[in-house]
Amino acid sequence: MSSAENNGTPISELGKYGLIDQISQKFATKNKSTVIGIGDDAAVIDTGDRYTLVSTDLLLEGIHFNLVYSPLRHLGYKCIIRAISDIYAMNGVPEQVLIGLGISSRFTVEHIDEIFEGAGLACSKYGLDLAGGDTSPSLTGLTISLTSTGYALKAKLTRRSGAKPNDLICVTGSLGAAYLGLQVLEREKRIFEEDRNIQPDLAGYDYVVERQIKPEINVKVLTELAEKTIPLTSMIDITDGLASDLMQLCKSSGTGCRIFSRQIPVDIEAERVAAEFNLDPLVPALNGGDDFELLFTTPLDAYEKLKEIPTVSVIGHITEKGSGNYLVGADGTEVELTAQGWKHSG
Ligand SMILES: [Mg+2]
Repeated sequence: MSSAENNGTPISELGKYGLIDQISQKFATKNKSTVIGIGDDAAVIDTGDRYTLVSTDLLLEGIHFNLVYSPLRHLGYKCIIRAISDIYAMNGVPEQVLIGLGISSRFTVEHIDEIFEGAGLACSKYGLDLAGGDTSPSLTGLTISLTSTGYALKAKLTRRSGAKPNDLICVTGSLGAAYLGLQVLEREKRIFEEDRNIQPDLAGYDYVVERQIKPEINVKVLTELAEKTIPLTSMIDITDGLASDLMQLCKSSGTGCRIFSRQIPVDIEAERVAAEFNLDPLVPALNGGDDFELLFTTPLDAYEKLKEIPTVSVIGHITEKGSGNYLVGADGTEVELTAQGWKHSG
């Protein structure tokens, strides 16, 4: 059924976040225990002494992953990272994950074992229990549904919506490598498809490829921020891309922002690989996604303490509502940030 047949609105007209907004407007919160419903990284439920956090993700073959270059074990691992990233983004601690699989006939028991082997490794590393799930035969490819649960201490919960004008905008780690890893894998796939005798050559690209297919979350940085008693006024994880995720944070907080291109922590390896692809490394750093770094804001007076954490970069500041979301270039020119669209391709 095409939109031309039913005269419906193409979803690309609303975009992912417009669609979510439209759905959430129809569902008012009824239960007192629902502290945060739709619209943050995870739902927040008041369970007494602390908050319970719940988040869900849907990953589809051909849209979110490509099995030509993503080994099943790594896919299982990355799924868990994706699931728990949203819990960390609320300044919470993940404890359980549930996995649902839609499995087409081309997958065997051994394939499924591989996925769970990878998932199990991530569960061990991040201290998680695989607490349930479901499996079903599917007509097309592999579908992975993930639910993660965890908790946040009430005083520690960090929403997307708490940023205030003049707050500093900070990111952890470096950005852009995961996207370039994907570009390298796509290039090797094309070469292999043209000549099946040529084996993929990933030598020299290990780091960017690993950031794409087997990412990690920098949990340590959250501990460091807590130890230095740096207050987090808002937070989101960087999965869609810095620009897109920052715009979400500003929208939730009812603010604008200014970030400075020179201060964005473009990954050194990403910079090197970007040159090979004739790409401005700032583009994958802004729009690449899948970096699994954290984007947060803190009051201006936390600046001195922030400087003591080498894995945190201050990239700009929050501005008043209505003043727009801007990237300030090295020459001082201002460009408005734009979000990711709704695409029907990987
Ligand atoms: Mg998120």
